[in-house]
Amino acid sequence: MPEHRLSTDTDDGLLLIISGPSGVGKTTITRGVERSIPGAVFSVSATTRARTPADVEGVDYHFVTPEEFERMVGEGAFLEHAGVFGKRYGTPRAWVEEQLARGRLVILEIDVQGAMQVKAKLPEAFAVFILPPSEEALLERLRSRKREGEEAIQKRFAEARREIEQARSSGVYDAYVVNRDVHEAIAEAVGLIERRRGTKR
Ligand code: 5GP
Repeated sequence: MPEHRLSTDTDDGLLLIISGPSGVGKTTITRGVERSIPGAVFSVSATTRARTPADVEGVDYHFVTPEEFERMVGEGAFLEHAGVFGKRYGTPRAWVEEQLARGRLVILEIDVQGAMQVKAKLPEAFAVFILPPSEEALLERLRSRKREGEEAIQKRFAEARREIEQARSSGVYDAYVVNRDVHEAIAEAVGLIERRRGTKR
């Protein structure tokens, strides 16, 4: 084993993309997958969106100014980047490449536009899209977050439907996981990843 490798490293680096509409429970699933798989690491994106009280700098995102983001684009710092809800988001290229070289499972929680860019560059990436059990269930979940008024909720709901449609027509997703129960959805995603890693060996 080459000396630069760490003891937690495995032989099978894999890039995992997790996408899904807002309100589907994608962050919980992503973090659950990260905890369940030894050597899995979450890629912390850069974003120009405002930091909320729930966000931790360097853990959830690297919060940057639009000028910094633009500079990073110019330097080729991103594996992919996209505009979501009028804000910019990007995946750090060098960090992801380094982790993959170490044999890690690298998790990107990114939108459909980003997934399309990554798959075009790295077709061996494994892309999973999280679906709600039904449209009614998604609407119910968006409402129960009690974060927004009905108008904003309807806007998010329309956006979610559009994103599900875009995911299906993009053809980039290798698997769809329906989030009926979060523990089951995590177990299903982990099973899919293990099977995929198994076939790569
Ligand atoms: P939020 O601001 O709610 O955390 O994320 C909004 C959307 O941006 C989500 O769909 C999330 O998956 C997506 N997103 C987060 N980071 C990135 C990124 O680096 N690239 C792309 N393309 N989308 C991202």
